[in-house]
Amino acid sequence: MSIPQSDVERRKQISVRGIAQVGDVNEIKKTFNRHLHYTLVKDRNVATARDYYFALAHTVKDHLVSRWIRTQQYYYEKDPKRVYYLSLEFYMGRSLSNTMINLGIQNSVDEALYQLGLDIEELEELEEDAGLGNGGLGRLAACFLDSMATLGMAAYGYGIRYEYGIFAQKIINGEQQEEPDDWLRFGNPWEKARPEYMLPVNFYGNVVDTPNGKKWVNTQVIFALPYDSPIPGYNNNVVNTLRLWSAKSPIDFNLKFFNDGDYIQAVLDRNLAENISRVLYPNDNNFGGKELRLKQEYFMCAATLQDIIRRFKAAKFGTREYTRTDFDLLPDKVAIQLNDTHPSLAIPELMRILVDIEGLPWNKAWNITVKTCAYTNHTVLPEALERWPVEMLQNILPRHLEIIYQINHLHLEEVLKKWPGDLDRMRRMSLIEEEGGKRVNMAHLSIVGSHAVNGVARIHSEIIKSDLFKDFYEMTPEKFQNKTNGITPRRWLLMCNPGLSDLISDKIGEDWVVHLDQLSKLTQWAKDPNFQRAVMKVKQENKLKLAQLLEKEYGVKINPGSMFDIHVKRIHEYKRQLLNCLHIITLYNRIKRNPSAKCTPRTVMIGGKAAPGYYTAKKIIKLINCVANVVNNDPMVGDKLKVIFLENYRVSLAEKIIPAADLSEQISTAGTEASGTGNMKFQLNGALTIGTLDGANVEMAEEMGRENIFIFGMTVEEVEELKRKGYNAYDYYNANPELKLVVDQIQNGFFTPNNPDEFKDLADILLKYDRFFLLADYDAYIKKQEEASNVYQDQAKWVEMAIHNIASSGKFSSDRTIIEYGREIWGVEPSYEKLPAPHEPRELTLKEN
Ligand SMILES: *Cc1c(COP(=O)(O)O)cnc(C)c1O
Repeated sequence: MSIPQSDVERRKQISVRGIAQVGDVNEIKKTFNRHLHYTLVKDRNVATARDYYFALAHTVKDHLVSRWIRTQQYYYEKDPKRVYYLSLEFYMGRSLSNTMINLGIQNSVDEALYQLGLDIEELEELEEDAGLGNGGLGRLAACFLDSMATLGMAAYGYGIRYEYGIFAQKIINGEQQEEPDDWLRFGNPWEKARPEYMLPVNFYGNVVDTPNGKKWVNTQVIFALPYDSPIPGYNNNVVNTLRLWSAKSPIDFNLKFFNDGDYIQAVLDRNLAENISRVLYPNDNNFGGKELRLKQEYFMCAATLQDIIRRFKAAKFGTREYTRTDFDLLPDKVAIQLNDTHPSLAIPELMRILVDIEGLPWNKAWNITVKTCAYTNHTVLPEALERWPVEMLQNILPRHLEIIYQINHLHLEEVLKKWPGDLDRMRRMSLIEEEGGKRVNMAHLSIVGSHAVNGVARIHSEIIKSDLFKDFYEMTPEKFQNKTNGITPRRWLLMCNPGLSDLISDKIGEDWVVHLDQLSKLTQWAKDPNFQRAVMKVKQENKLKLAQLLEKEYGVKINPGSMFDIHVKRIHEYKRQLLNCLHIITLYNRIKRNPSAKCTPRTVMIGGKAAPGYYTAKKIIKLINCVANVVNNDPMVGDKLKVIFLENYRVSLAEKIIPAADLSEQISTAGTEASGTGNMKFQLNGALTIGTLDGANVEMAEEMGRENIFIFGMTVEEVEELKRKGYNAYDYYNANPELKLVVDQIQNGFFTPNNPDEFKDLADILLKYDRFFLLADYDAYIKKQEEASNVYQDQAKWVEMAIHNIASSGKFSSDRTIIEYGREIWGVEPSYEKLPAPHEPRELTLKEN
């Protein structure tokens, strides 16, 4: 293995990564060798690179455990209000680098590995991503965990330990193929199974009336086995817990078969029950409506709520331990945040626990439930809103359906009280939809069952008040809030872009890592030629590194001097990768028409996964690859334009791509992207944005000033106006010959001579069925791209704008987002105090909870 001396040297300089102390380095070497020997059972003659990765991961994890145990002891002792973040997705990515950074041991580990003759960057690449998410929603949950730990909050992530995460994407003949993500194949050194905390979850059965109220009986039980992963805060000795549930068959599963004597069949069928946590559903912004998914959602909620109630009851005051029975205190001690409606069954489940099990009166239980729960909406797209068939709930969760009906009954009484005789409003606001088969609208359930409802960017929060949830806003305006999303600056700058991190720390110190607002101090050097040169140099190095990676991994050669124009996110019609394609083809046609015209060389990179069942998204991937094939092999084009599809976009790839970006594509139809967080990552890393006034782009533009961003296209109001008057794509197609040519080329198979009909359906969408108005924004987009190309010619101007981007990204730290959730929803304040380190004395020696 070769040692990249420059990287080791560079990483050494950074003091935020901790200073390498001889004692620490020797200790790490010893621990590493001990793990190689005792944990991996290998010596250096037979150890593989993966063995070294695991030895290193265990070594770094060892540094966490005392802090982890102590943090949990501290929470048990102090009994602060706990925050529970419930999510069907946690898109964590890799843990090794992040853990070393947050613990401040990166330099010691670097030095230790160097002395052992090992290449740490090579080992880091062997870690599987924890790909337990689809895109923005899952990554948000991961950023929030980092911020909550860094802000010293007693917070817990709760979700599912999917055996298979988001599929691996392979591009074969230009098409996406999915491979199962068997991420646990080699074991997961970061998790700890906790079989002693296993809990039962019930399904099916029926409801009976008893003298003590309703009882859910004759159920099938499946156990939920918790796996805990540590969530280290940045430099504060706090380690929180992400608890993920795995489905486990009970010993007596299929007893009927045992009695029938079919022992083998009974054992084989245990797998069926365990399918609940087998695989992440790969839909982004789409409701699939599958029964197994409903079971996953309930499985997570039921196990989590038992855990929450158990921990609530096991309060400890001073030296006195007791069981808490006063559930009025629940909202003072527990906040439950629902990441979209996916965990919304937590609401009827909490009601079932309080009413059926704890014996509380309905009204009291309802007040407690509403005060405890809060709901975050992530989308206004109708196809993404969860609406479970009543029949399915009746079968799987009969008691919960009854509870939902009762909630609805009381809710509609309130509606009628406020708007007597307004039957249409009652129909619109019902939790039960009647049209096309009865369904439960889970967003309506979530709003009614929560004390706070929030959107994820200002514009999105306004849209849910004025449109999607207008009736509910009119009924309870005090519930509706905004919490603009953010990203963690630890992973998305300090860790992924050490060059830029150093440069920033040299100028303004290291406080920005936990107070990202301080980046605004960089504004004073926006015009400073020395600082500009330094920022450009870092960007150039990052681009070179990405170019080398692409050449090594995919054999594609790109020009590192070209503009890196990057569009990475899930493939979805509303995100308009197809609009980017129209631009690429336009550039191609212009080069062909006028080969001698001067132009800004571009490398356009598009990446992202399509949901396996999303036909149009998969076709868009194929079009990008077919266009790339023509453009990249046309000698007349040469270095002026290259098109790359970035295979298997995921967290660890994002960390390599984003620091190398010049231009960030954020071009969704105004009103469709709730916030976006990819946009923020690019801004933080000094890319300029070309984007619409959608989601958080609006606030980004406001923070940096319109002169530092390429904003184009229709506003939300203009889109609404266009919908009212009726959109006719042919108006735009016929009015613009350049656009007409591009659409015709897609239509008539210009990029697939062997199959001229290949993209007819895409052209048909553009001209006849386009819900996202691509042609209406085409002209403005092309003009804005020209402007970006022109500015790029003036490198000093470009880097000045880039510095303004970085300097104004402070708002988009997820620390700021979490502080707002804490103050305005949870009633929890951040703490910047450090817990004592493991070697420091502590007053408390109490059992873990
Ligand atoms: C941040 C992130 C996303 C979200 O990107 P958007 O552009 O906001 O849709 C999706 N996938 C990965 C891997 C990410 O890191």
